[in-house]
Amino acid sequence: MIEILKKIFEDNPEKSTIVLNVKCSDCGCDVIIEITPTSGGFGLLGGSLFKCSPDEYFAKCPDCYKTNPKINDHHKPKHIISLSEKITPKKG
Ligand SMILES: [Zn+2]
Repeated sequence: MIEILKKIFEDNPEKSTIVLNVKCSDCGCDVIIEITPTSGGFGLLGGSLFKCSPDEYFAKCPDCYKTNPKINDHHKPKHIISLSEKITPKKG
């Protein structure tokens, strides 16, 4: 997951905090995750992110993360986010 976060920050070098507006892979609710680089890696506020392939990841809201923090091999996230669509600014 760290590699994906790194890539996101490399694409947006001017940003010190990145806000992802995504959907929870379990319940489908909107999750807003704030990512800030820290000395030891990255800090996430508002939810959790999981890597699912080199260019794809998915999110979980805090409730689903509490219920099911582990990702097993059979887990099929309903909402996969690809790196290319990550933080497209929403217009309108
Ligand atoms: Zn959820």
